[in-house]
Amino acid sequence: MTIHKTDEALGFLPLPGDNGKPITVVGTDAIRDSFDQTCLDQAVNSRMAPGVTDVILNPDGHAGYGAPVGCVMVSPTHIYPGPVGVDIKCSMSLLQLDIPEDAIVDKATRRALINAIVERTPTGAGRGQRSVKKARRVDQVLGTRAVTEGAVADVCEALGIPPEWASRCEDSTHHGHDGTYDALRTRLDWILAQGRIRNFADKIGQLGSYGGGNHFGECEITRITDRPWARDTAKSFGLQDGKVSFLSHCGSRGFGNLLAQGQFKDLENKFRTWSTPFPAGDKQLVYAPLGTPEADAYLDDMALGANFATVNHLLINALVLEAFQEVLPGAKGQLVYFISHNIAREEIVDGRKSWVHRKGATRAIPAGHFSLADTPFASTGHPILLPGNPRDGSVVMVAKAGAERTAWSVNHGAGRRMGRKHAARTLDQKAVDADFDANDILSNCRKYPIDEAPDAYKDFPEVLRSVESAGLAETVAKLQARFVIKD
Ligand code: 5GP
Ligand code: MN
Ligand code: MN
Repeated sequence: MTIHKTDEALGFLPLPGDNGKPITVVGTDAIRDSFDQTCLDQAVNSRMAPGVTDVILNPDGHAGYGAPVGCVMVSPTHIYPGPVGVDIKCSMSLLQLDIPEDAIVDKATRRALINAIVERTPTGAGRGQRSVKKARRVDQVLGTRAVTEGAVADVCEALGIPPEWASRCEDSTHHGHDGTYDALRTRLDWILAQGRIRNFADKIGQLGSYGGGNHFGECEITRITDRPWARDTAKSFGLQDGKVSFLSHCGSRGFGNLLAQGQFKDLENKFRTWSTPFPAGDKQLVYAPLGTPEADAYLDDMALGANFATVNHLLINALVLEAFQEVLPGAKGQLVYFISHNIAREEIVDGRKSWVHRKGATRAIPAGHFSLADTPFASTGHPILLPGNPRDGSVVMVAKAGAERTAWSVNHGAGRRMGRKHAARTLDQKAVDADFDANDILSNCRKYPIDEAPDAYKDFPEVLRSVESAGLAETVAKLQARFVIKD
């Protein structure tokens, strides 16, 4: 399978038998070499799957669940739960504080901040509000409203989230398949009656927490690109040069996971009952044609999980702000944006209403696009939050018109270069920790998790070169890590 190069950072992967629109591949030569065979096979399998009209493979692409992590899959007629993934609406959010970088130079202040944050927002699989002292306790009544309605004003108010943050979300609420909250309430009642969500109260108690693995909170210094257009865009995003900001990565925790796993199982069983073949023989690519009860059930479950993730992120940001105010009294903070990289959204692609599945991919809509008309970002394009790694930094980008070529999407990070076991085998713990010390980046972990080390991920500067050279987006600001909170 050969990727044909059309430009410095653009190419395509033809389909078997030249059968339809090829897969668009974003990446320089070095990035093109980084895709392993499983990743390319998965890209072709997802492109050839029923109802799929377009697939884009981004520079952060690597093998995933059915479809590669780091791809976009477009279908006007079908919904694919696998490519949304087990962590429904895994997302990034960025909080800009008004604290000058000098205020956190000394290690003791940063240690105090780490402690104040981990007392409020737990990390680790299965952990929730009860695991830490200063979490916000959310009861089942409020939690039920959060998952069925999302970040509506009174849910935000009850949780101490500034209600204006809802306008800084890619989507602040998700509705059921028929556009109503009632559909979600009915579906949730059914799911609970089936006993699908073991210990619902406990899952609700995970609102305001990061979870384990690759999820993180990271304290940054915002460095705005030194060009007039970037300074203007950064200003309207609410970014402040040389000041502290905080980047968060997490999703829908155990609640979203159980919803997704339940859907995979349901659809797999239906395929078997109906003797429907899995696309390319891969059960991870089960699907439901839109308009069927199966598709409706999936869209409702996805919305429930997505609402959890939205309220989870907003609550984390409110708690992080509270932690900064405890250590540095008088600190102010404003949410810059909250944007997902594991979600399917209905959008217009190539003039046609379609479900755009972003599987480790980020929406990238530029200034003037109709879909941003009622948002604070109509005249700039919305912020694109791209984590890289703590050592090489992360960025805030903004889309350019060229993103039309990639279904209004870019990558969602650097992407894994090594699997977790491979990283544990080949990387050296002492060298990883020394790297953090040399860059004066603190962490809550005594030893940095080796499978999360910067070198377990692809070359982030090369990934960014790919995005910019392909004309998809440009960098508004860099984020330089000062401490990382991981499991
Ligand atoms: P995901 O796990 O959602 O597929 O990956 C998100 C992206 O986050 C990865 O591709 C990687 O580039 C980035 N990432 C992972 N860990 C960290 C971290 O600790 N700090 C930063 N800034 N980025 C990270
Ligand atoms: Mn993620
Ligand atoms: Mn996730």
